[in-house]
Amino acid sequence: MPDTRDLVDAARSHTVGIVGGGIAGLIVAWECAKVGMTVTLWEAADVGGMTRLDTVGDTTVDVAAGALTRNAAVDGVLDAFGMTGELVPAATTARWLLQKTPLALPESPALGVPANPFASEVTSIIGWGGVWRAYLDRLKPVLTIGNAENLGELVRERMGAKVRDRLVAPHTRAELRLDPDGVVIDVALPELNGALTRAGSLSGGVGLLEQPAPPLGLSGGVGRIAAALRARIGELGGTVYDHARVTSARQTGDEWTLQIATADAEPGEPAQREATQGDAAHSEATVQHLVIASDERGARELLAAHVVALPAETATEQTVVTLAVGGVPAQSIRGAGLYAAEGDAAVARVDHVTAQWPNMPRGSGQEIFRVTIPGHTMADDRAIEASISAIAAAYAADARVLDARVERFLRAQDRAASGHADRVATIRASIAKLPQLDVVGAWVAGDGVAEVVADAIQTAETIRRRALFAG
Ligand SMILES: Cc1cc2nc3c(=O)[nH]c(=O)nc-3n(C[C@H](O)[C@H](O)[C@H](O)COP(=O)(O)OP(=O)(O)OC[C@H]3O[C@@H](n4cnc5c(N)ncnc54)[C@H](O)[C@@H]3O)c2cc1C
Repeated sequence: MPDTRDLVDAARSHTVGIVGGGIAGLIVAWECAKVGMTVTLWEAADVGGMTRLDTVGDTTVDVAAGALTRNAAVDGVLDAFGMTGELVPAATTARWLLQKTPLALPESPALGVPANPFASEVTSIIGWGGVWRAYLDRLKPVLTIGNAENLGELVRERMGAKVRDRLVAPHTRAELRLDPDGVVIDVALPELNGALTRAGSLSGGVGLLEQPAPPLGLSGGVGRIAAALRARIGELGGTVYDHARVTSARQTGDEWTLQIATADAEPGEPAQREATQGDAAHSEATVQHLVIASDERGARELLAAHVVALPAETATEQTVVTLAVGGVPAQSIRGAGLYAAEGDAAVARVDHVTAQWPNMPRGSGQEIFRVTIPGHTMADDRAIEASISAIAAAYAADARVLDARVERFLRAQDRAASGHADRVATIRASIAKLPQLDVVGAWVAGDGVAEVVADAIQTAETIRRRALFAG
């Protein structure tokens, strides 16, 4: 057994460089700094990534992720920062169809598949023709169900194309960024196959599923976790830089040499101040262990020189507009928000943030909305215009923008995507060949804070073991 003092010395002398300051990078930095390793993190934009707070109008709000799925890893992090008691359930989970005349989507525990084809929300969206076709599901032989793999095919076969296209596709596209045919049932809805075999029909099976508990937000925003992590890393002696992009990583002997481009900021701007304080104005840094915690594209750029063939990129570009809006009612007249009815709509979804999380402190007369626009090509002013038009059409004609922020994210593929597991296994196998390098983040862990945090903690544990016990 090594002496504790030897371990402390070994930890201190071990340098870890982390590229990317989203939740994945922050977790790895924290876990490594905890045992005394010398940790430096570079973030190309603002620390927090998709788990970051910003102020819009009078309100401090999450710019992207606003709901937390709990698992042991997330619970551990919340506990470490005394935040467990600050989880708040969403006030509403209802969703509407974003179209000329918005319609309420039926409540469903299974991505929009209705348990009752005769529910009024179902008839108003798919009409009586669609309803009778959906009802055939109850009459079809049980044996045609089998152990279905692909959600779209199952729904079309059992309940008809209208249920698939008008009720299920809006959910899968908005929540998973997938067409129903690309959704693996056992990952997205692990209970469904068993339930439908028991019930003998798809709608009957959906009826056996429990309505999931409402999503949980964090009082003050999920972004508080990233802010707390950053502060704790600093307390533990680690260094975190904003606006510092790692442009290349070269392995020389036992070390990685990184080239870093700091932001093109005027002296005195926060990014520049931060960079100079921490000495990140240097364009080169050397670390023993490299952790790439960036989004998929950033990771590919750094890995290109080291890994020959990775499967093609699967991330989705999203432009996300957060708006403080005046002239709309504070009540949740469209539940938590609306999902686009069509796959090629200019606006993919509208989230009424202050209706979903009503205890958020906010300026009076201001409602907060988050609007997701597919792609990165729309200019900021056009994106704001498209967002307020969608809000005005769905809520109130005289809705007006009081303030807005536009962010562009590269959203990772969901774990429920067909082929995801094989793809990630191939990526991980290629990267495992590179010594002293690990990759974390949503593009390998699957999209979602819970997935990313669990994977980052596990990876950090491996790094610590290797560094301290050389095994
Ligand atoms: C609009 C939206 C809503 C979401 N809602 C939810 C939700 O409610 N619940 C949930 O669980 N999940 C949600 N997610 C998903 C979740 O936020 C992400 O899966 C997770 O936060 C990803 O964390 P990450 O650290 O892997 O990536 P990121 O947060 O993207 O962090 C990666 C960072 O790496 C930086 N980077 C890239 N290249 C370089 C480089 N060369 N040098 C330095 N830095 C670099 C980037 O600037 C970025 O900040 C949402 C995502 C979006 C976009």
